[in-house]
Amino acid sequence: MVPTGRRERILFVDHTAVLGGAELSLLDIATAFRHCAAVALFDAGPFAHALASRGVRVITLSAGTALRNVKKDSRAPSPAALLTTLRCAFQLSQAARGFDLLYANSPKSFLVSAMAGVLASRPVVWHLRDIVSSAHFSPANIRILVAVANQRAARVVANSQATADAFVKSGGRLDIVRVVHNGIDPEPFDALPPDARAATRRSLGIAEDAFVLGSFSRLHPWKGQRVLLDALESLSGVHALVVGGALFSGEEAFEAELRVRIAHPSLAGRVLLLGARGDVPRLIAACDAVVHTSVLPEPFGRVLVEALLGRRPLIASDAGGVREIVQDGVTALLVPPGDVPALVRAVQTIRDEPALAAAMAEAGLADVRLRFTPTALIEGVSAVIDGVLDARIV
Ligand code: UDP
Repeated sequence: MVPTGRRERILFVDHTAVLGGAELSLLDIATAFRHCAAVALFDAGPFAHALASRGVRVITLSAGTALRNVKKDSRAPSPAALLTTLRCAFQLSQAARGFDLLYANSPKSFLVSAMAGVLASRPVVWHLRDIVSSAHFSPANIRILVAVANQRAARVVANSQATADAFVKSGGRLDIVRVVHNGIDPEPFDALPPDARAATRRSLGIAEDAFVLGSFSRLHPWKGQRVLLDALESLSGVHALVVGGALFSGEEAFEAELRVRIAHPSLAGRVLLLGARGDVPRLIAACDAVVHTSVLPEPFGRVLVEALLGRRPLIASDAGGVREIVQDGVTALLVPPGDVPALVRAVQTIRDEPALAAAMAEAGLADVRLRFTPTALIEGVSAVIDGVLDARIV
């Protein structure tokens, strides 16, 4: 883990204070480094509170809030966005003088950190948690990100080999990339009381004998909640917990669409939209299986590891980093992204073959406990930071 006597100071940077998967991962990293690090955020919100409650110093950059509405798929940065980026970079460069290295946790914060790194003569590491491809980013944003990374990133830490491959395929330099998988703490899953399933079901008003699927992703069309609802139409008697919030602006319309859909007689009474929750382990315990339905390649997919830590059978979309986490037919059932009949068949298999489902969940638990540990994550990040500081890459 991180030596407590470490002298170099790290400034982690994130553009959002909303708690998505990237932020939950940075929360664990920043907590491990807290004696020698701070986190600079462009916005106030739940992430800032979560960091503070773990004893991590938070620096809020007031100039950054205006960057909230710049999207990955926006066609080209507007002059106003460029000016705001410069202002934010200047503010970050002032803060960076008290640190030895900038560590950006998102594309937006990387671009700002790259500029700040030039102004303050500090090296910049980018933790890349996105598949850099035209499915997620506009061509202009891909060109800018890759060009700036190739020039200014001392290292790009990819959260999966799939993420690394997409970066390189887009023109990114292979020599600066290091793959460090996410690590998830099993303790909140292990600490659940034996009656967690029954108690959680009672609190949600779900019958003890209902067959319940769980989906744990922010609400967004690419996370595939529509695919799950389509599959439920063909799975009579099967219920679903849809857990996750409309985290970013513009996603409220999608949530409204799902609300209308679940009230339709074909689904009425079978789907609970629970919004963003802080008790995912307990909710996983209430499910008979977890389904991951992303219709685009998932960069990593923390929910996969969490489902297995929660000892649940898992069905996942076969794309992106998913095959680095699970093995089809051994630790999970994989289905082609967006393939509703295949998802229906996979759910029927899990429901009708409980011995197979239990064996996959057990094999998956043993595997993720070994391979996706918080210790491995922190050691991987630490090794990258040490390599950059030792080589004095600026
Ligand atoms: N999550 C959560 N509350 C919710 C829904 C999801 O805490 O209501 C967590 C989930 O447990 C996981 C993370 O959000 O740790 C999502 O990470 P993932 O890598 O699956 O997707 P991302 O949001 O990074 O695209």
